Amino acid sequence: MEDRFSKATRAGKPYTAFVVEPAIQGAAGMVPQPEGWLPRVAEIARAHRALLIADEVMTGFGRTGTGFPSGPRFHAFAAQRQGVVPDLVAVAKGLTGGYLPMAATLATQEVFDSFLGDYAEFRTFFHGHSYNGNQLGAAASLASLALLADPTGVARRRALEERLARRLEVLWRHPQVGDIRREGLVVGVELVRDWRTREPIPLEQRAGIRVCEAMARRGVLTRPIGSVIVLMPPYTTTGAQLDRMVSALDEAIGEVFPPLG
Ligand SMILES: *Cc1c(COP(=O)(O)O)cnc(C)c1O
Repeated sequence: MEDRFSKATRAGKPYTAFVVEPAIQGAAGMVPQPEGWLPRVAEIARAHRALLIADEVMTGFGRTGTGFPSGPRFHAFAAQRQGVVPDLVAVAKGLTGGYLPMAATLATQEVFDSFLGDYAEFRTFFHGHSYNGNQLGAAASLASLALLADPTGVARRRALEERLARRLEVLWRHPQVGDIRREGLVVGVELVRDWRTREPIPLEQRAGIRVCEAMARRGVLTRPIGSVIVLMPPYTTTGAQLDRMVSALDEAIGEVFPPLG
């Protein structure tokens, strides 16, 4: 990445911005970033005067973790927990807790101010939407944010994260479980032919879909991304429901891949 930025800058065509999904890439199959990756990436982008844009639609509002290991303070964003403040942040899903469709783009004061000036300068940001600032959506968002920041809720979500981490361990008994990736309350369980070789299962075998169908028969609805099974428990999930999610996945893998002999 450093090379690319340097080359572009030297060629006189510097990058304008770097867009990143902090902590874990969702639709790519739940791929977490190594510790320290994001701060370094932010540093490189900034050194080349590129804006840092964070897509926190999936990772935000506590989904990827409650924040620091102790204390009740709520850190809504994945970038924030790594000490990175992006220039722009896209948020949506978790903003209203999913109750109403609302999205927002957050900007630093510097970005915001760049659209201010005398009328003749014509710097106004002209792009808008028909339903900007919808009152009902905004009210739902404020109510949801208050719930998210409530210390009791933060403690509950932290306990749920810890329980999930412990329960997931059972899945390693399946030779087809090649990786278990978790960030907060986001989990991707990658199915492979054999965990020792990590050889992928051909997509036409629909392993992910078959496992999710077997989970649905056990009362748990989720979806795969290719051969990666996604678990994203709602924050209202009880401990018992969480256990049921994991045991449904455990049984479903056993059903789709019966042990040999
Ligand atoms: C769902 C999702 C989006 C799309 O958000 P919309 O508000 O539906 O446009 C964008 N980025 C990520 C990471 C998402 O998970």
